[in-house]
Amino acid sequence: MSQTAGVVLQVIVVGGGLSGLAAAFALKKAGHKVLVFEKNKDRRRIEAAIASPPNMTRILKEWDIGEKLLANAGRHTRINFVDGGDNTFIGALSSAIFDVVKKDAMADFFVLEYNDVYDLLYDAAVQAGVEVRFDSFATKLEPLKGCTRVHLRNGQIFEADVVIAADGLNSGTWQDVIADNVALESSDKILLVKTTAPVSVLEQEGVSLRQVSKDTVAWNFYLGDGFLCHGCAPAETYFMISSFMNLDCTGEATEAEWTDLKDIPPYLEKVISEKLSNELQRILRLSKSISVRLRGFPRVSDSLVCSSARTVVVGDAAHVATQAKYHSTALAIEDAQTLGYLFSRIQDKSQILGFLGAYDEIRHPRAIRIHENDNRRQAILMAPKGPQQEARDARIRAVLEAAERGDINEDLVMDDWGDHVVTAMYNATEKAEDWWMQLGPSVVKSPVRSRLSVSMASTTRNSPSEAA
Ligand SMILES: Cc1cc2nc3c(=O)[nH]c(=O)nc-3n(C[C@H](O)[C@H](O)[C@H](O)COP(=O)(O)OP(=O)(O)OC[C@H]3O[C@@H](n4cnc5c(N)ncnc54)[C@H](O)[C@@H]3O)c2cc1C
Repeated sequence: MSQTAGVVLQVIVVGGGLSGLAAAFALKKAGHKVLVFEKNKDRRRIEAAIASPPNMTRILKEWDIGEKLLANAGRHTRINFVDGGDNTFIGALSSAIFDVVKKDAMADFFVLEYNDVYDLLYDAAVQAGVEVRFDSFATKLEPLKGCTRVHLRNGQIFEADVVIAADGLNSGTWQDVIADNVALESSDKILLVKTTAPVSVLEQEGVSLRQVSKDTVAWNFYLGDGFLCHGCAPAETYFMISSFMNLDCTGEATEAEWTDLKDIPPYLEKVISEKLSNELQRILRLSKSISVRLRGFPRVSDSLVCSSARTVVVGDAAHVATQAKYHSTALAIEDAQTLGYLFSRIQDKSQILGFLGAYDEIRHPRAIRIHENDNRRQAILMAPKGPQQEARDARIRAVLEAAERGDINEDLVMDDWGDHVVTAMYNATEKAEDWWMQLGPSVVKSPVRSRLSVSMASTTRNSPSEAA
């Protein structure tokens, strides 16, 4: 991203998670003045494993950051499929398959820890000249002629040429400005249970993490009837997220956290003991932290841009992954790269709306696609007991057997995993470049493009709440 813009825009990013920091970094490198408002008081710490598939790895390399992080990170080379009810090994996507994708994509798969990725992006953004203000809760976006005002809860008001809504799932700022005002989540609920367990403790207790070697990372998918647990250990901690559908948790807190499993409520104890294999139960019971989140199934909004508020939405606020959040961070990094590429070409403030429209045209179809794929995969991985599950398991077994004979059965791999492969191969820079070659000149000449149809929501709408 060597080109820099012909005009310096004031960009405000609401939310300093991974997507906000990545967008801030890319827009600063594109030549703009960037201010990030983060409601937390300090740098974020989350215990989580983050996948860096080729579509993300490639961008980190293009940005010239992360060499050291990637050099020391575990390469992701395998997905194991295990029956989550009785712990039978079903099959695997083995390293031979990962190698084919990696070769075609010309970048590798890694598994990283959230805090390492956060520190990398935070340091890169600040070193590039981004200002990050903590303890700064954005409550309202107010569109004016020629700029948007960002109101903070402490009463301060700032003006921006462009606002980036990077405030995560159920983005308060985004809901504040979009006109359709349709709930971003359905009323059906999914329960997400996140656990972290020390690898040394699991190993001492004889739990098999199904790692093939010390310096590569296997991701374990435990498939069950109406549930899916997936776990991996990029270093010393085994991170696992379990998703359960159709549970009766009426009246329970939508978010809660415990450090002692003895404290978990009866409904959760019942799910664990009735649904999960003994192996999975041991992983949960040996965990040092457990948190739950009960949420609806998200939907993608009709546009990723609100022209009147000069706002674009990025990261989890834009892309919605229901269960396996494998692609979440990679998509946030793609968003940032797309913004950086486009806004390094802006020459005049009159072109802002055209460039926002370009972002929408490139990223909205991708957000929809990922969402559809995610739902489709969920149906396959959480299939109920019976013929659908048996057919799925037979396909998984056949893929592994073929790979072990040195034969990649592409048809079988692509049947269930084609969209995953295609997602990992996506090249955000090339996409933006293609778009620019074809439509860039028209945006520069005639700034407002067709998809920019989202208008300002009613000003009587509530401000984003603390829970956002
Ligand atoms: C608790 C938690 C656990 C996770 N675990 C995993 C995992 O195990 N594996 C995985 O792949 N991914 C996980 N993720 C998701 C992953 O971190 C995200 O997909 C990715 O980092 C992109 O997130 P984001 O920056 O778009 O959103 P977030 O990480 O949600 O960041 C949004 C930021 O905006 C801030 N914010 C919100 N509202 C306002 C406001 N009004 N004003 C100012 N600031 C605001 C928030 O404090 C937050 O820092 C987890 C996310 C969370 C929050």
